[in-house]
Amino acid sequence: MDLTLRFRAYLDDDTASEVWRHINIHRQIRNHAVRDYYRASRNDRPSAYDQHRKLTEWKRRWSIFADVSAHAAQQTVSQIQKDLKVLEEHRKNGRKTGRLKWQGSGEVRSVAYQSEGFNVNHTAGHDFGTLTLSKIGEIPIRAHRDIPDTENVKRAILKKERTGDWFACLVVEVETPEKPNPDEIDSTDCIGVDLGIQSYIHTSDDLSVKCLDLAEEYDHYAKEQRSLDRKQRGSANWEEQRRKVAKAKRRIRWKILDFQHKLSTWLVREYDVVAVEDLEVKPMLETSQSAKNKQDAAWSRFLDLLEYKGDLHGTHVVRVDARGTTKKCNECGVETSKPLWVREHSCPSCGHTENRDLNAAKNILNRGLNSLHVGSGRSESTPVQTVLPAFTRHSGRVDAKHVVEAGSPAA
Ligand SMILES: [Zn+2]
Repeated sequence: MDLTLRFRAYLDDDTASEVWRHINIHRQIRNHAVRDYYRASRNDRPSAYDQHRKLTEWKRRWSIFADVSAHAAQQTVSQIQKDLKVLEEHRKNGRKTGRLKWQGSGEVRSVAYQSEGFNVNHTAGHDFGTLTLSKIGEIPIRAHRDIPDTENVKRAILKKERTGDWFACLVVEVETPEKPNPDEIDSTDCIGVDLGIQSYIHTSDDLSVKCLDLAEEYDHYAKEQRSLDRKQRGSANWEEQRRKVAKAKRRIRWKILDFQHKLSTWLVREYDVVAVEDLEVKPMLETSQSAKNKQDAAWSRFLDLLEYKGDLHGTHVVRVDARGTTKKCNECGVETSKPLWVREHSCPSCGHTENRDLNAAKNILNRGLNSLHVGSGRSESTPVQTVLPAFTRHSGRVDAKHVVEAGSPAA
């Protein structure tokens, strides 16, 4: 599978304006190719191959197109076909889609080189390496981790963030470990994860992870935004302030992403099976009402991240239909509806009582195990043996500030 490694890139002013010029040329090539594509009649639309051939002719007519790397230009043209496939997938899934749009200045912020036209250099132990891009030149990148060798990099992308900072993304292929055979999985290595109401997640091992406290970051962001509103749009001061706003916003995004990375890594490292409720089928009402801020939650990205890491670490990540998991008693299987504010599951049928989210997480785990056929023959209403408290054996792996045991005063 593909792994994207991100490195901070340092461009001097001349290089930065040259790269930005290249990005704009690529944007124009793309717009041109998109127009060319839609101009053709519906059953005679050009393929990437057709457009690569046309590119030669376009370069003769618009010499500026020849200023950029030929490989990168082909990549820009090929990208259209990939984007069309994505639209097609969305359509198949019943989503409304339009056509590929014309892109305005500033909308495209990166340039990509596929397999050719770039070189990566790094001497082990040095703080900086370089990324050399054809027709652009050498760009220092910060080696906060090992920089892969050129032959292992499939794709190199140089991107300018809205904050003005540059990043190099190097895409490498990594071998993925095989996932354990469901027949040989120990039930203690399986976990169910409920997307919490009061907490970020609540697991079937009765661990609850608090939502990230971003109040300070949001205050700071709001302050910078207010200051921007007072400045004259387009002035130098305004531009400087706009960057500050972008930085404040990025800080929030990074904090959330960092939190999600740590949490998903912890889950896939500790368990062989992680069962999660699939958002597609969960009525959003339950989460959105209580989630302070939708962005903090960003569940869908968390699930994608979890799945991606599951592939990376050889862990089964199973999405299950979460309908009824809150209502159903995990001891006897009887369903009882309870309003959102009822925090405890108390079964009128068997008398079983426990935290609402814990009960849901156990149901999610059971569904996940059933769909994987782990411990075949177990019916959904049979409780799964869980070892408590599980977190003590993993403590220290996740920022303890964010992982607290349910029932503790901090939770
Ligand atoms: Zn019951």
